[in-house]
Amino acid sequence: MPFCGYYVFVANLQHRLPENVPGDFFVDATCIDCDTCSELAPSIFRDHGDQCSVHHQPETAEELRRAMMALVACPTGSIGTTERHDPHTGIDAFPMPLDDNVYFCGFTSESSFGAWSYLITRPASEGGNVLIDSPRFASQLLKRIEAMGGVSRMLLTHKDDVADHELFRERFNCERVMHRDDGATRLGVEHVIQGTEPVQLDDDLLVIPTPGHTRGHVVFLYRNKFLFTGDHLAWSPTRQTLTAFRSVAWYSWPEQTRSMEKLLSYEFEWVLPGHGDIHHDDAQSMHEHLQRCVSWMKTVK
Ligand code: SF4
Repeated sequence: MPFCGYYVFVANLQHRLPENVPGDFFVDATCIDCDTCSELAPSIFRDHGDQCSVHHQPETAEELRRAMMALVACPTGSIGTTERHDPHTGIDAFPMPLDDNVYFCGFTSESSFGAWSYLITRPASEGGNVLIDSPRFASQLLKRIEAMGGVSRMLLTHKDDVADHELFRERFNCERVMHRDDGATRLGVEHVIQGTEPVQLDDDLLVIPTPGHTRGHVVFLYRNKFLFTGDHLAWSPTRQTLTAFRSVAWYSWPEQTRSMEKLLSYEFEWVLPGHGDIHHDDAQSMHEHLQRCVSWMKTVK
């Protein structure tokens, strides 16, 4: 169901989850527990177990803006309101600036289970804009990306988070980059990465193969500052350090542990995952967190 004539889907009040506190915003039974809302607007949404719900209704303008951003970013249209709000409060917030010229795209896709995607904006002389993994192919986001310079290159961390990559390729005529061992050739990807050695894409972008979650998983390092980690590495808010996801190491946990150890040779300040929490720290602290993560991984069977 379109929301006020826009390509944003909204929830069904009849299927409102009982865990929501009473009031305007609610989550319905279609929630797939991707945690996008609880990461984007933690003061409003929480993970109550196997789904998310509203634990506090927005009271301030900033809380309302964050709640509307979560509504727009939700991959399944599981967030709704009983009152009318201007959808642009959420729509116009994306792509959301993170640091320097790096943005979070919002508009997550159900086919990648709500994985987060990112945009790097650069002048054509530096290679043009780069999209990391695929957001939902939503017209409002496309217009905004177009206004920011379009997409020259699309970097795909692994096969689970490719979502609408073909539509982005058609719209922007961008070159896609992906590892062969995750089916890049079958998907018709233009720049196929092979083997386990890092590949320099240009002066600022490095591909680092990190098999483990999937056989052909890679991470992308931008300017030795931003590490786009797909499903390889994320921040754990409970353990307050970097972590990996043992239960979804589909290819090989020992391999993923070795891939993680390899990352100790690189410097970065941002961990920007597809799933799990973002983390920003100085390079030294990030290195220490990564060491902790590797040591922990070696204890887990
Ligand atoms: S963003 Fe949507 S699907 Fe994801 S946890 Fe929140 S309500 Fe559920």
